[in-house]
Amino acid sequence: MTDLLIHNGLVLQTERQAAGITLKLLPNHDVLVRGNRIEAIEPTGQVNPSHFRRVIDASERVVMPGLINTHAHTSMIYWRGLAEDVNLEAWFNDYIWPLESNLHEGDVYWGMLLGLIEMIEAGVTSVNDHYFYMDEAAQAVEEAGTRALLGWAMFSSNGMAQIDEVGGAFAQRWDGAANGRIRTCIAPHAPYTCDDDFLRASAIKARRLGVPIHIHVAETHEQTNASLEARGITPVQVLEQTGILDSHSILAHVCGATPSDIELLADRRVGIAHTAKTYLKLAMGYAPVVEFRQAGIPVGLGSDGVVSNNTLNLWEVMRLMALMQKTRFEDATVMPIPEALHIATYESAAVLGWEDRLGELKAGKLADIILVDLNGTHHQPLYNVGASLVYNMAAGDVRTVIVDGEVVMYERDILTIDRQQVLAEVHKRMERMQRRERAKRIQTYRP
Ligand SMILES: [Zn+2]
Repeated sequence: MTDLLIHNGLVLQTERQAAGITLKLLPNHDVLVRGNRIEAIEPTGQVNPSHFRRVIDASERVVMPGLINTHAHTSMIYWRGLAEDVNLEAWFNDYIWPLESNLHEGDVYWGMLLGLIEMIEAGVTSVNDHYFYMDEAAQAVEEAGTRALLGWAMFSSNGMAQIDEVGGAFAQRWDGAANGRIRTCIAPHAPYTCDDDFLRASAIKARRLGVPIHIHVAETHEQTNASLEARGITPVQVLEQTGILDSHSILAHVCGATPSDIELLADRRVGIAHTAKTYLKLAMGYAPVVEFRQAGIPVGLGSDGVVSNNTLNLWEVMRLMALMQKTRFEDATVMPIPEALHIATYESAAVLGWEDRLGELKAGKLADIILVDLNGTHHQPLYNVGASLVYNMAAGDVRTVIVDGEVVMYERDILTIDRQQVLAEVHKRMERMQRRERAKRIQTYRP
């Protein structure tokens, strides 16, 4: 007996062909799930629903892969709305880094759970999280039933020993946990907060453990120019020279990439995490998404923390990414709908190195699946499903979420986490979390 039948849905697939990405919509199709994998996708009517342990009616639903958040600091959720209308330097030095000095043991667990609820509610089934107290983050992911790549954020000011004792030890402890739903990485913060020796040692650690690296780099052109002035090379070249790019690397932002940086990255196993709303909000400029992809470098969607993005809703990030690239080229044909959906699904999986098991609905892939309802007024009348998914979606249109073959949200009802308890724990911490003394900041931002 097969475990789960997603019955009679409109199944969405994207495919890379010689002419570009195409979007395929298969009406009246079933998705058969055995254990944590997709067993088959076939026209409705070929299997008998009574042969399944559980049947989910998808007759009014789009069935598609769960979204993958390729860059987040989920537990920053404590400071949502506290750093508004400020530039990047003030955002770090006057807000984030003083506020983060309030973070203690026990906080990340509850912050992570709140973020995971918000992500599940928006159809996000995987997150690549870069933060502190990551054992608590891992525990939260294990309980939420979702999937994550987790790395303990490190600054060189905290000493070299943390690479082994904190980041490395965490990576070893949790890699492959929760039936493989949790994977780990090494997460030095950025070339502007980690010196060359620290980056070199982080790179060696990642290679020894066989895990990827997750790092911020060239977030703005200002950072690229400052690096060129100070040392004659770009931040991307710093990563190259310190061996970071010898491992699979997930590079957050890279808005300040030069054409020669893109050439350099094209030969490496890297993926770019793209957080469009943060760039718009903090006036960081446009990322060269089109050029990265032309060079064969995968680009994935990310939320970043909610103190810059305000939500963990990747539908909004996808929409803003497409709109920004059209505006950047003053050409509305740039980044058509199938490409935006391919980035949100398959390419986001490829950024994490997971394209062999996630990112599309296909026999043999892991069963991370969402069911979307396009009956809302903002989708009606409905002619173009792809357009609705890219330009009209609200997080609340996601109705049911399945991760690793298990249902974690059914018809908007979260089954794995007690939302009331999580909110109570987070609210209890609000007064302490919002204290802000500039002198107490955990780092200083100098591009
Ligand atoms: Zn970030």
